[in-house]
Amino acid sequence: MSQAKYHIITFGCQMNKSDSERIRALLGGVGMEEVGRPDEADLILMNSCSVRQSAEDRIFGQVNGFAKLRARNPKLVIAVTGCMAGRDKDGALRRKLPEVDLFFPTADMVRLPQRLAELGLIEQVGDSVEDYLKIAPNYSSVRQAFVPIQTGCSNFCTYCVVPAARGLEKNRLAADILEEIRDLAGQGMIEVTLLGQTVNSYHAEDSEVFSSDNPYSDHFAALLWEINRVEGIERIHYTAPHPQHMTDEVIDALALPKHVNYLHLPVQSGSDAMLTKMNRKYTRDEYLDVIRRIKRRIPGIALGTDIIVGFCGETEEMFEETVSLYREVDFDIGYIAMYSPRTGTPAWQAFKDDVSRTEKKRRWKHLHDIMEEIVCEKNRKYVGQTVEVLVESCKKGICVGNSREMKQVRFPGGPELIGRFVPVRISKALAWALDGEAVVEKTAE
Ligand code: SF4
Repeated sequence: MSQAKYHIITFGCQMNKSDSERIRALLGGVGMEEVGRPDEADLILMNSCSVRQSAEDRIFGQVNGFAKLRARNPKLVIAVTGCMAGRDKDGALRRKLPEVDLFFPTADMVRLPQRLAELGLIEQVGDSVEDYLKIAPNYSSVRQAFVPIQTGCSNFCTYCVVPAARGLEKNRLAADILEEIRDLAGQGMIEVTLLGQTVNSYHAEDSEVFSSDNPYSDHFAALLWEINRVEGIERIHYTAPHPQHMTDEVIDALALPKHVNYLHLPVQSGSDAMLTKMNRKYTRDEYLDVIRRIKRRIPGIALGTDIIVGFCGETEEMFEETVSLYREVDFDIGYIAMYSPRTGTPAWQAFKDDVSRTEKKRRWKHLHDIMEEIVCEKNRKYVGQTVEVLVESCKKGICVGNSREMKQVRFPGGPELIGRFVPVRISKALAWALDGEAVVEKTAE
């Protein structure tokens, strides 16, 4: 049998990117070769996202295009995994994708090699591990790694598909997480991003593995403290925390030396009526109180958030409450989404999607303009300052990486700088990037 080839397309969040790294490891482990183009592949695998209808529409569109490749390659296997397959409890989505051969939730990736063998694409394989998180990923970077610490979510925000798509919250053992991170450090990785849907609600079943001198009793803060001690790891961040679980200890752990000077804390709305309807489990005042405590502990921390505009029943006044909260917190960045009803969610069942598309767009643009105005103002303060940049890529003589505030920084340099920390003096501030020059240390003559 000739070596089968696969092409993988990842949609959506960092959790999906991390899951795709595990799929790559699985497929590489059974001798398959990754190719960069779908028309070269025997298996086209789409790791789907269901957060918005447009994300699912892209899958429908692409599947039809890929099915035409069967004229040239009759043995082509088309597979869909991720949230779309996970949330399809009644098979309605599956029925709309007759060209798809394999349609499976993320956790079922462990059985993918067996199913490919049944389809004749690869030789028979032995038993697989039961828990997909036990698969060692094929990391896409040699310096930065995503490390999931939990899967699923038990929060049931009314607009969200995640509890249906990925199941209830399930936490990894602290021993497994720490072993993975120590291994990463051994391989030369210097930055880790901890992933979880409500990452700071992390609970370790094996909390006895935490060191006796660990100062924290909150399991997430304690985990951060342990990771801070891993030699070789220089930068730590996480996404996405839930405001409800920003305990004093988790806030204190933001000041650990290796933690980035940035926190992404989704708020979704500044209106109590909307927060209640979304089942977010905090009020506007409680969110603002968390922000005050964070700023008191780490003055100067950069803050980001997620916001949904045009949720069911959102009036102009309620939207203005979101605008005023955005200004009050003074976020560095906001990821703004127009509400898109998802079938099967509590909001889809119980509420009317009664804000028109035109009005959603108007609110999105209004908030987006405010965000740009604030971020431009904030970024201008960096001009003349030197920031520490972890270089991620270099193309055509321009290096790109993030500062500790997770600002994208660009400067002239070569590929030898990839994976290194470089001090960069900022000369120009744009809305979404800072430009500068590497600071070359002068040696004594
Ligand atoms: Fe979805 Fe809410 Fe869970 Fe986030 S916290 S994954 S929005 S249910």
